[in-house]
Amino acid sequence: METFQEHYDSLMRAIRRYTPYADMDAVERAIRYADEKHKNQKRKDGSPYIIHPLAVAEIVAEIGLDTDAILGALLHDCIEDTDASFDEIADQFGPTVAELVEGVTKLTRVEFSTLEEQQAENLRKMFMAMSKDIRVVLIKICDRLHNTRTMMYQSKEKQITKSRETMDIYAPLAHRLGMQKIKWELEDTSLKYLDPQGYDELMGYLEAHQAEAEAFMENIRSRISERLSAVGISCSISGRIKHVYSIYRKMKSQNKTLEELYDLYAFRVIVDTISDCYNVLGHIHEMFKLVPGRFKDYISTPKPNMYQSLHTTVIGEQGIPFEVQIRTKEMHETAEYGVAAHWKYKEGVETGNEKEFEWIRRLLEDQQETDAEDYIHSLKVDMFDDEVFVFTPKGKVISLPNGSTPIDFAYAIHSGVGNTMIGAKVNNRIASYDVQLHNGDIVEILTSKSAKGPSRDWLNICKSNQARSKIKQWFKREKREENIARGKSSFEGELRRMNLSPSLLQNEELQPQLLRKLSFDSLDDMYAAIGYGGITAVKAIGKIREDLLKASRSAGSAKESGKVIEISQPIRQSRHTDAGVVVEDIDSCMIKFSRCCTPVPGDDIIGFITKGYGVSIHRRDCPNAKAANDPEQAARWVNVSWLTGGSKPFATTLEVLAEDRDALLLDIAAALTSRQIRMKEIFGKDLPGGRCQFTVTFEVKGLEELTVVMNKFRDIDGVVDVKRGQN
Ligand code: MN
Repeated sequence: METFQEHYDSLMRAIRRYTPYADMDAVERAIRYADEKHKNQKRKDGSPYIIHPLAVAEIVAEIGLDTDAILGALLHDCIEDTDASFDEIADQFGPTVAELVEGVTKLTRVEFSTLEEQQAENLRKMFMAMSKDIRVVLIKICDRLHNTRTMMYQSKEKQITKSRETMDIYAPLAHRLGMQKIKWELEDTSLKYLDPQGYDELMGYLEAHQAEAEAFMENIRSRISERLSAVGISCSISGRIKHVYSIYRKMKSQNKTLEELYDLYAFRVIVDTISDCYNVLGHIHEMFKLVPGRFKDYISTPKPNMYQSLHTTVIGEQGIPFEVQIRTKEMHETAEYGVAAHWKYKEGVETGNEKEFEWIRRLLEDQQETDAEDYIHSLKVDMFDDEVFVFTPKGKVISLPNGSTPIDFAYAIHSGVGNTMIGAKVNNRIASYDVQLHNGDIVEILTSKSAKGPSRDWLNICKSNQARSKIKQWFKREKREENIARGKSSFEGELRRMNLSPSLLQNEELQPQLLRKLSFDSLDDMYAAIGYGGITAVKAIGKIREDLLKASRSAGSAKESGKVIEISQPIRQSRHTDAGVVVEDIDSCMIKFSRCCTPVPGDDIIGFITKGYGVSIHRRDCPNAKAANDPEQAARWVNVSWLTGGSKPFATTLEVLAEDRDALLLDIAAALTSRQIRMKEIFGKDLPGGRCQFTVTFEVKGLEELTVVMNKFRDIDGVVDVKRGQN
């Protein structure tokens, strides 16, 4: 049986080693507090309960989290399992610790009833959303890791459900937070319970071949080591067999036996600098035969979870392939501990650099074209500010846009539920239709066959497009007369606003022509569509505006109509913006440089007024700017020009087409370095016929410098074509 003293000692060792700055006094107090609270409880194996929080705190300390997190780990089961309260903990250990404990408690209470893939994804997101502080999730993952390590004391049934949960929720979370080491252990241990036979076979094989494997790894290791020390690169090299679950998964997915499996071995070379990484890569490729298509540069293009490393696969002795990962110490730290690595050096140091945490938001969702900085104000994880996760009474998770109401929920279940809704209950209490739902709410919709259907107000109350379009559909179907009347008045109102007479539409020649353009069979159909919101009056008029203007002029009654901005018009009024461009007629607005054509000073440019993100700047020859000729959009294109004298560098993208060869990438990088230009991103892809294409993003001051770079690239051996990026 494990004892308090053993775990206490090993926690202290971990703290001294990994978090020496921790407040030991507070740690001691928290241990005493937790021990007292849990004193009558036992673990499944009969040992005192306090061993569990001690062990969880040890893992938390090992990954380098701070004092608050260690205290949170020590106290993490107090609110759930003892008479301790939030206030008491806040009183004794401060509000931050209390909030961490409460956060972990909330996650502990989440029931996992169904685990289909979509559900699992939602649950993972909800975990993140419910934890205001990323440390809550980290503590919860450490809690799960210790429970996994001690799973042998659980009933068989519990072993299986818990392991499934670990595989579906916790291991992917650890992965997305970049905590490779913990992810591996979670997966390997869970596999043992989920497929004991498969696990044993695999382990049996690995053990039987252990001596061979070690000899092979030692040979490769010393060869690489000799070579690198001969050229004066200091490094540490380790070889390992890849973790069990990753081998297992590959065997299953590729339907291969262990003997057929491609690569079992991974070597890791850790060096001091990034340039050493590339140097080592060169040496490895000279020493061993390269397996084509396996080189990956995650240094210039990190994975979303911040992972950085060079990967290559080569063939060694007896034709055995193996992978080599090359990275710096810092990158290695991040690879092992992910987001937690950020705390390692943080305590006591004022970083003030919130941008560092920008990537957290990117972890679990596709990056929108928004300014990520706006979202990250502190370490607080509000990455799911735009989503809320609620339950059906049966425990299914429904994800809705933030601010959603019972109406959104009802339509997310089924339009039939929404259309017959007569009331709603949130957490078992009757709630009004417009109440905002919160993470974890249980929502029930009351329906009746005799319900009179949605009301138009609902369109203003609901948050989701789904609900809005389903409500509109209902009106479209049920309320044709009303729609026609509404549509007609809004269409005619819009005509009058343009100084056009509604009587134009009655013109016998014109009417069929207009309807054809609008793709409606009758004016009533069009009015109905406008009435239920299928098309806006402005859009409908946009399609026939030229015809209307012409008819109006020939009727002699034309007055000046809506203004059309001429693309070539000179700029009349300019104001400075700090973005390096000036926008005609607009005082100050958000400026964004489009990613499709990445303009730089000197390029001929034009601006597009986006919905909500200010003005986006395109090159005039960008295919997307061709849309400026579309009359419907014309009003949104504005003249812009470069502000002279700006010295801020601009990110831009080049596409380099080349005959594929070794070290091509290095030459591209060298061309930039020689001009002291910072590379931001590089993507490579193989093309048929032995060619490849690199998409390189870097910063330049203007067109002149860009032209120099393009010429430098053209001079590189094997390069066939260099052009501005346009995707
Ligand atoms: Mn626990």
